[in-house]
Amino acid sequence: MDVRLIGMMPEPEKLPALAAKLTHSKTAPKDLEDSSPEELRAILTHVLNLGHTSVIEHTCFTFVISDVSRSLTHQLVRHRIASYAQQSQRYVNLHEPCYVVPPTINRNESLKKAYEKTMQTIWNEYNKLIEMEIPAEDARYVLPNATCTNIIVTMNARSLLNFFELRCCLHAQWEIRMLANKMLNLVKKKASILFKDAGPSCKTKGYCPEQKKDCKWYPK
Ligand SMILES: Cc1cc2nc3c(=O)[nH]c(=O)nc-3n(C[C@H](O)[C@H](O)[C@H](O)COP(=O)(O)OP(=O)(O)OC[C@H]3O[C@@H](n4cnc5c(N)ncnc54)[C@H](O)[C@@H]3O)c2cc1C
Repeated sequence: MDVRLIGMMPEPEKLPALAAKLTHSKTAPKDLEDSSPEELRAILTHVLNLGHTSVIEHTCFTFVISDVSRSLTHQLVRHRIASYAQQSQRYVNLHEPCYVVPPTINRNESLKKAYEKTMQTIWNEYNKLIEMEIPAEDARYVLPNATCTNIIVTMNARSLLNFFELRCCLHAQWEIRMLANKMLNLVKKKASILFKDAGPSCKTKGYCPEQKKDCKWYPK
């Protein structure tokens, strides 16, 4: 899995801070930008502590994510408050086997061999269909959830906080959890106020909405 932060505003916390200031002061909108960085940091922190997270919708982050499974991207695109562009299986022929191996299979040599054999059989069938001039958009029906894919996602900071709550959680599947943690590490370095307390619900809310007491983090 490769995850890169490829786009954001030059000062990703500035617009949320200006929005926060607008909501909490009598400053005329034309004078909003005459604020010191310290003042903006303070007002943003204050408004976020109040839970007024709508102000952080004014800043977005774009990631390019590669070598992840279609299982992962199926889960990712359920997050509707975001924009996506994904490699097409209609326009791109996937001649070479390219798939993700889950760790539970990878650590067992004989299972791994059987898995790889299955993948090879699937790709042989896919390539046979392509050779028979079946369009890629139809041949792809035989490809597995494990198939590698690349996707670009843009989310605003508020949607990212929701994504991190749900997907940094130990109840999220390992692959999307790995992705969420990588994305969180990237944005934390660029917007430390916005993402200071970001993470799974047990961290942000102080309780587990899943109520799964077997989790090694909950109720810590
Ligand atoms: C551990 C785990 C297991 C899951 N298992 C399943 C499963 O078995 N089956 C399954 O189908 N899904 C499953 N999901 C997906 C889950 O139900 C959500 O679809 C997904 O996590 C996206 O979350 P979201 O709706 O909060 O995000 P977004 O779509 O980004 O929405 C963000 C927020 O906007 C608001 N919102 C967005 N759209 C609407 C709307 N139409 N109406 C009202 N409010 C809206 C909500 O407050 C929402 O929380 C699972 C998710 C997790 C984390």
